[in-house]
Amino acid sequence: MKQLLLLGIVILSFFSTAAQAERTCGFDVIQERISQHPNYTNYLTNKNLSYKNFPKSKADTVIRIPVVVHVIYRLNSENISTSQINSQLAVLNKDFRKLNPDTTNAIGWSKADVKFEFILATKDPNGNLSNGITRTQTATDNIGLSNQYYNLVPAWNRDRYLNIWVCDIGPSILGFAYPPNAPGVSAQEDGVVIGSTYFGTTGTAQSPWNLGRTTTHEIGHFFDLLHPWGSDLNPSCSTDDLVSDTPNQNGPEYSCGPRFSCNSTDQMSNFLQYVDDVCMGNFTLGQKTRMRTALYTQRDSLQFGALFEITSLSETPLEPKVLIYPNPSVEIFNVELPKNTLLDKVEIEVINLAGKLVKCETKRGINGLIINIDTAPAGVYFVNVRNGEFSSTKKLIKH
Ligand SMILES: [Zn+2]
Repeated sequence: MKQLLLLGIVILSFFSTAAQAERTCGFDVIQERISQHPNYTNYLTNKNLSYKNFPKSKADTVIRIPVVVHVIYRLNSENISTSQINSQLAVLNKDFRKLNPDTTNAIGWSKADVKFEFILATKDPNGNLSNGITRTQTATDNIGLSNQYYNLVPAWNRDRYLNIWVCDIGPSILGFAYPPNAPGVSAQEDGVVIGSTYFGTTGTAQSPWNLGRTTTHEIGHFFDLLHPWGSDLNPSCSTDDLVSDTPNQNGPEYSCGPRFSCNSTDQMSNFLQYVDDVCMGNFTLGQKTRMRTALYTQRDSLQFGALFEITSLSETPLEPKVLIYPNPSVEIFNVELPKNTLLDKVEIEVINLAGKLVKCETKRGINGLIINIDTAPAGVYFVNVRNGEFSSTKKLIKH
């Protein structure tokens, strides 16, 4: 009997080791689910059209994205520490800024500074002070996998926060995320879900998933990246990830490589691969363009989420002086820019308190930096002025 029990333990640990030895993510299954939705064709057509029409000259400035981490735990060990959460944010702020030292893993590939930064939210959706972390206990096992996570802890307003749930997700996948505006995906569930032992670099993070790359990978999906094999359940050389500078690949690979398929060398260091954390190191320039286009066209309010983190709007000494006047204004306001600004690149955005863009203008001359807000309702707005070199935010009152 004792021998049988021991055998059982050995078999169980074999499967548990085998299941965790290879990265898998739930995105391809999610894609399959979305593709069955009756609105899928419309969704795809509209999205592709907005991507096609998106101006390639859009300012390449840093975008700061507020994050809320929802920790859901059954076991005390799943109630991960704040320092483990901070370690994950640190990884994101390296990987999405090309500051990670292992970009050297990408030999022969473009390495992009995506210019996304991630900050833990300092306010909740009601404006109360927050540390950007919620903690909720549950009696439910595998709550991430069973999709009950969002019934227990619904997403904070997805127009203002990137929601990340960290919880037990079972041994079969490391995490999953939803692409933007996917049909059949509710606002309550839209975000990223990561198993607690694959999150961050300290605490309960387990090798080989202890360098925070599962979250980097899943946020890539959140901004509409596909796997290099096209995120198809039946991948082949004809399934593509819709990014021109990632070579086609005939399916996932779990080792660091090198690997050759579809008449080209596969890009094993890409964050969207299934390789171990340590093998990864880059997004390509094409992936950067797709993620930023997805943010601007599909998750457009999220780019303004950081405005709500600002308690007092003030310019840093290094920031060029931008003036807007009159303030309060009634019909129009003027924008006075620093001298020597490259005027053909200036964008002016007016955002309301709900985080919605109410006006966006690109100005192309030395005169005419006059913005008409006649049709906007009275209230408080943020005015974001930026070009490729700077970004400045002002508060504007409209009477
Ligand atoms: Zn994936």
